[in-house]
Amino acid sequence: MQKEKTSIVIIGAGLTGLTIAYLLKKQGISATLIEARDRLGGRIHTQYLDGGSSIELGATWLGKKHSHLVKLLEELDLDIFEQFMDERAIYEHMSFTAPQLVRLPDNQDPSFRIKGGTSQLIQKLASYLDEQQIYLNQEVKTVHFTGAKVQISTSKQDMEADHLITTLPPKLLVTSIQFTPSLPDALMDIAEHTHTWMGESIKVGLSYPQAFWKSQTTSGTIFSNVGPITEMYDHSTFENDGFALKGFMNGAFHGASKEERKSQVLNQLKKYYGEVVEDFLSYEECVWNQEAYTFTPYQEFILPHQNNGNPIFREQYYNGRLIIAGSETAKNFPGYMDGAVQSAQETVAQITGRL
Ligand SMILES: Cc1cc2nc3c(=O)[nH]c(=O)nc-3n(C[C@H](O)[C@H](O)[C@H](O)COP(=O)(O)OP(=O)(O)OC[C@H]3O[C@@H](n4cnc5c(N)ncnc54)[C@H](O)[C@@H]3O)c2cc1C
Repeated sequence: MQKEKTSIVIIGAGLTGLTIAYLLKKQGISATLIEARDRLGGRIHTQYLDGGSSIELGATWLGKKHSHLVKLLEELDLDIFEQFMDERAIYEHMSFTAPQLVRLPDNQDPSFRIKGGTSQLIQKLASYLDEQQIYLNQEVKTVHFTGAKVQISTSKQDMEADHLITTLPPKLLVTSIQFTPSLPDALMDIAEHTHTWMGESIKVGLSYPQAFWKSQTTSGTIFSNVGPITEMYDHSTFENDGFALKGFMNGAFHGASKEERKSQVLNQLKKYYGEVVEDFLSYEECVWNQEAYTFTPYQEFILPHQNNGNPIFREQYYNGRLIIAGSETAKNFPGYMDGAVQSAQETVAQITGRL
């Protein structure tokens, strides 16, 4: 196998990895990105559909308080728009009571979506990089720190670098990549017990020729204690030329087949809207705990956000030649897109300081 030599290797081409590469590029520094999946974006994954609509299978919303992300979007000239929320919602309290149409209070803190889909952010960052900087379909398997260098072996090649930046969720990092010498026990322990944000979620979405849910007697906002969809929202495009509903499914349906989930989703929606729900153009879903490059099972129960942002991730390892980045490692909003951008910015400050 040919050994490629490079100065900086970044493992993972999700939002953190791509933002690091973009920020380094702005300073004239080229880094190599290695990505296990056949696509960029990691937990950001917009499924673009025929007919102009799209479904966010991963990250969707941001708030104005997500200042790192908001600034990056401005810099990249990407627009956001407010999530459409009817003032009414369908609320299903119990399985033996009828669903109700309830009035929602004024939303003091609205959520926003990225125009054209969250993957626009990923595509825009990638557009500043050279194609040769990014290797897709290559899973990093081992990392070996030796002398002043780090040897990285992927499923396809060996590489040598001066600096290594990882962006995997910490639990996945310590479970799937073998380090020699081993990572310190304290770091391993915390990483093993760090929650991967949204790793258990099931996203479902349906596109339609018309937004029939926007009517006098119904709404696209659904909150259900009965399920299997627990919450759902209008997911039409900003331009209002592509129509969809998108939501989350109860975790009990991880083990069901795609056909079973689809049938359950349609049955639930039929209760609210009638037979028109059968006229969908596309049904999309992602069961994130089946995504091997995001989720790996925990040994014991882990609370949501447990150990997210733990300072141990921001310490120096292997004489500063390893930086552990990624959304879960960020000081603020760890687990969210804003955390990914903040982590990228701090990583770049650290590495340029060293170089
Ligand atoms: C269903 C869902 C909904 C979400 N909703 C929101 C939301 O509304 N708002 C919000 O702010 N955030 C949301 N998030 C969280 C958001 O997606 C993440 O914070 C962000 O995308 C994390 O980016 P990252 O680059 O740090 O990690 P990741 O996106 O996980 O990137 C890590 C990358 O490493 C790659 N990789 C893994 N193993 C290897 C290996 N061995 N070798 C090489 N590459 C590897 C992965 O394929 C991946 O591309 C959501 C996440 C999910 C899953």
